Amino acid sequence: MSICYFDNNATTRVAPEALAAMLPWFSESFGNPSSLHTLGESAADAVAAARASIARLIGAHSPEQIVFTSGGTESDNAAIRAALARFPNRRRIVVSAVEHEAVLAPMAALEASGYEIIRVAPTRDGHLDGAGFAARIDERCALAALMWANNETGAVHDVAAVALHCEQQGVPLHVDAVQVVGKHALGVSTLPIDTLAISAHKLHGPKGIGALYVRDSASFEPFLRGGGQERERRAGTENVPGIVGFARAAELAARWIADGGPRSLARLRDSLESRIVERVPHMRVHAGAVERTCNTSNFGFDGVSGEALVMLLSEYGICASAGSACASSRHAPSHVLLAMGLDERAASSSLRLSLSRETTEADVARAAEAVESAVSSLRALGPA
Ligand code: PLP
Repeated sequence: MSICYFDNNATTRVAPEALAAMLPWFSESFGNPSSLHTLGESAADAVAAARASIARLIGAHSPEQIVFTSGGTESDNAAIRAALARFPNRRRIVVSAVEHEAVLAPMAALEASGYEIIRVAPTRDGHLDGAGFAARIDERCALAALMWANNETGAVHDVAAVALHCEQQGVPLHVDAVQVVGKHALGVSTLPIDTLAISAHKLHGPKGIGALYVRDSASFEPFLRGGGQERERRAGTENVPGIVGFARAAELAARWIADGGPRSLARLRDSLESRIVERVPHMRVHAGAVERTCNTSNFGFDGVSGEALVMLLSEYGICASAGSACASSRHAPSHVLLAMGLDERAASSSLRLSLSRETTEADVARAAEAVESAVSSLRALGPA
């Protein structure tokens, strides 16, 4: 049975071009970018070219604003650490209640150490009011963190309004853009965003590599100290193959965006949703009425366990998710849906289908049929 992959918010397939670009950097071109000989020099050149590609993808005005990290989680943690080091006397942080665990887990640890954490929730329809979020931020805050798009529902947040307010108040803003970079055009340099997290494996690049955009390095306190790589902002020998693969994936994503890919993918997502809405009774699309990323659908099916649905769909060859990959391994109801005001039962009855530029109309037809059949089989067994 062929596999039909609908879990692209968890991770994406590495683009063949990205894989091919990486391979020489494991073998004949294995140098350390800090070495002064030819092998080192060519590795340093490759890293510099890659930095420029990532900067272009997000619209940063300088490649030097890009710091390579091990992925989205490290980028989020590093940004939080750097902001707090800037304002050690401020003890308040404002975040959305729907951030990824890479932000929320550090917040829980900071709360235990005496910080006041204000978590702002969206409405039941998944809308997080930018002005309402901004209103909680004033000069007493050490940091505000707002993800650009949510990984579970795809809801896109009003980062622009929040960024302008943060600048007026003199509060650093960190934006987790892991789920939006490579899916939509961004112009990060047009907004006063201090730091922004990116992960390569969400945009058809390899795992274990990501980046942090840093607007102003002068005030950036590094998370990892050591050999002084990344202009003293992130120590450790660079993951050259990963960086090169990330850059190739970024170039492909930039071209796909420029060619109108997001619009076509949103149409495919809408076709998936309408097929499921037509076939399955007693269901809803979470955050269906708000602006969303082009690839993400999150469904609620009354009386069905999301986990059971994911397992049954897997038997049909459909790879899906009941929420975020991290929450799935803990068997907890989605904190995102709970924050939207759903009760535990409804929050445990969700299914996320996340598409990519590789998804086809035939995949969508097959997934819709499989969802219809799986939901009715599970409902026939009685209430979840
Ligand atoms: N932030 C968001 C919104 C994510 O979806 C993820 C991954 O699921 C991360 C951060 C963590 O990224 P990584 O897996 O590269 O550490």
